[in-house]
Amino acid sequence: MAEPARHAFVIGFPITHSRSPLIHRFWLDQYRIDGTYEAVAVAPDRLTAFIASMHDRGYVGGNVTIPHKEAVHALVSRRDEAAEEIGAVNTLWFEDCALRGGNTDALGFAANLDDRAPGWDEARTALVFGAGGACRAVIHALKIRGFNDIRVVNRTVARARELADRFGAAVSAHPWDAAGELSTDVGLIVNSTSLGMVGHGDLDADLSGARADAVVTDLIYVPLETPLLRRARLRGLRTVDGLGMLLHQAAPGFAQWFGVRPVVSEALRRHILADIERAHG
Ligand code: NAP
Repeated sequence: MAEPARHAFVIGFPITHSRSPLIHRFWLDQYRIDGTYEAVAVAPDRLTAFIASMHDRGYVGGNVTIPHKEAVHALVSRRDEAAEEIGAVNTLWFEDCALRGGNTDALGFAANLDDRAPGWDEARTALVFGAGGACRAVIHALKIRGFNDIRVVNRTVARARELADRFGAAVSAHPWDAAGELSTDVGLIVNSTSLGMVGHGDLDADLSGARADAVVTDLIYVPLETPLLRRARLRGLRTVDGLGMLLHQAAPGFAQWFGVRPVVSEALRRHILADIERAHG
């Protein structure tokens, strides 16, 4: 007898911007899996009820995005190590009949760099702009890869200090104007702020003193080449855009729900890029 169709979701509020349905439906088609993946707008006051009713609604799991990642972390009693470290959940699935929450953003961040800038983790020193939710995933990924000197620069330096307290001695906190000096001897430079995104301001960092072998990466993928990445490329540095992080973070959830470990292919990347171009020209 054929297995029943499986159903998964992404929840957020609003949710119209999410490209997760495009990614998962691409894989469902590619692997000819009988399943669905839908975007569901869940208002904050409906979140607890939605999570409690997931199973009854017929879902095998789903993704969680802004603004629910921290709230879902508190709602799920069983979490993987990454979710515990980062303090946020972006993937839900059932295991032994119990709901489990994980965080795949750190894995996505590292897998994207593995793909597009092999050897990126050799220097073990990084300068990271930003101290928001995404930055916590970046720091977790860097710590797992053995980085022992992670310099966090943020407009609100108190938030960078909170991260240094949370993640321990490998992480230090710095004011924005220290970035130029801090960039001269690191192997990796990361933008985890929203600066550089279409409609936001530019991340105006001085990279003129950066090492010639430094890798520069941005979590933003609209535009694909942010002003920071452009400046770094023109200086001859290796650059990695943020789209691959989005694609790679999706893979573990798909494997949990649908039983196939999907490949992040150039065809998938082109599929999502075409949508970004349709939306932003
Ligand atoms: P968040 O929690 O809201 O944090 C935003 C960060 O940007 C904070 O550090 C904030 O500094 C900084 N910032 C905002 N406006 C600024 C300005 N005008 N000048 C200087 N700093 C400014 O957001 P998040 O969840 O960490 O996400 C950050 C970015 O990563 C977003 O663009 C998001 O789309 C992207 N992202 C991409 C992926 C991916 O898969 N590629 C995954 C997650 C996130 P303050 O602390 O001083 O406010």
